[in-house]
Amino acid sequence: MTASDLSRAQNVLVGGVNSPVRAFTAVGGQPPFIDRAHGAHLFDSEGKIYIDYINSWGPAILGHAHPEVVAVVKAAADKGLSFGAPTIAEIELAELLVNRIDSLEMIRCVSSGTEATMSALRVARGATGRPLIVKFDGGYHGHSDCLLVQAGSGAATFGHPDSAGIPADIVKNTVNLAYNDLPKLEALFFFFSTTIAGVIVEPVSGNMGVVPPEPGFLEGIIALCEKYGAVSIFDEVMTGCRLSPSGAQGYYGLKPALSCFGKVVGGGLPLAVYGGKKELMQQVSPLGPIYQAGTLSGNPLSVAAARKTLELMDDAAYLELEKKGATLQDGIQSIINDLKLDACVQRVGSMVTLFFSKGPIKNWIDSSASDKGRFAVFHQALLERGVYWPPSQFEAAFISLAHTDAILQETIAKIRLALMAVSEEQS
Ligand code: PLP
Repeated sequence: MTASDLSRAQNVLVGGVNSPVRAFTAVGGQPPFIDRAHGAHLFDSEGKIYIDYINSWGPAILGHAHPEVVAVVKAAADKGLSFGAPTIAEIELAELLVNRIDSLEMIRCVSSGTEATMSALRVARGATGRPLIVKFDGGYHGHSDCLLVQAGSGAATFGHPDSAGIPADIVKNTVNLAYNDLPKLEALFFFFSTTIAGVIVEPVSGNMGVVPPEPGFLEGIIALCEKYGAVSIFDEVMTGCRLSPSGAQGYYGLKPALSCFGKVVGGGLPLAVYGGKKELMQQVSPLGPIYQAGTLSGNPLSVAAARKTLELMDDAAYLELEKKGATLQDGIQSIINDLKLDACVQRVGSMVTLFFSKGPIKNWIDSSASDKGRFAVFHQALLERGVYWPPSQFEAAFISLAHTDAILQETIAKIRLALMAVSEEQS
């Protein structure tokens, strides 16, 4: 990417990008402009090659441009780009998901994770007739108004908007708690039992870096919601169909009332899903009074990509991803040990974060205390060496099936060099 590409972009696109994190603001440096992607690699507009650990922020679980996915999308395109009408392929996708994921009895397709979570909240509120939504600090659930509330202190705090343009009135019904703090949630339910509509959680947090749930945390959320007549909502936009055929809920053997899926579930095209118990989903329009709609919902190209991706992501594929994840984690951990760095690597399945903090990282307070300066040095050193790592300390890196052992070993060697650069800067 030349300086002129960037200034040309910045002239007409806000910050030169179509989604803020792509601007590399948190790590400095200039984002490469991507021309094409294949397997585990990205090729920028100047022909430089990168090993990709962003994978389109999750969807490219099979690797980029998987030939079988590309073929079905091309075939679907030949039949028409969008009909705005029901299709048989949609039924087949819905049947596939309902058969694959125990908690899903009925679903609705939408076009983005933001739409899925926003709609799930509306169902929780519409079905219970209650206003309050509980989320957890450091949890990102898309950019809809009432979910764009960041961490307060560890204590329960009524939300303050995390963006200009969101009136305080809109987020006054959003309550934030610390991730992994079940006693606080219990206390909140005790005091607000008749006003809490639902609890939304990333079952494995990916948006404060990878933070696994403590034993009993997710089970406790579901049990408390059931006890007090609220709706448990697993936001599996990142984890869904990534951690197991059915996502984190399959990984931990749990059944939330509602779930949201995105990213992997769309096979690289815009598609997300929300769904769950029939008694809740049957209250959505046109069956019930909760309105939600979308011009491109269930788009035939996205549905084709989704079906093929899910078909290819069988049990063996998840075992393979687990092995690849362990290889990368072990490799990074041994470098941390060798260099005696204040850092830790946290992983669940094929989601990995290297925190510049001793760890363990259990919540947003721990995560936000990581050394962002050292992360920026690490990121730039990796990018120079052709590894495209997420440009923020608070993001998960994703491994795909296209990351062969040789590619993982090459990555580990480059991470060693990048961490040596961090270590030198430190001393
Ligand atoms: N929920 C989670 C857990 C996410 O990670 C994201 C996006 O990164 C979203 C929701 C929003 O999805 P989208 O960007 O497709 O709107």
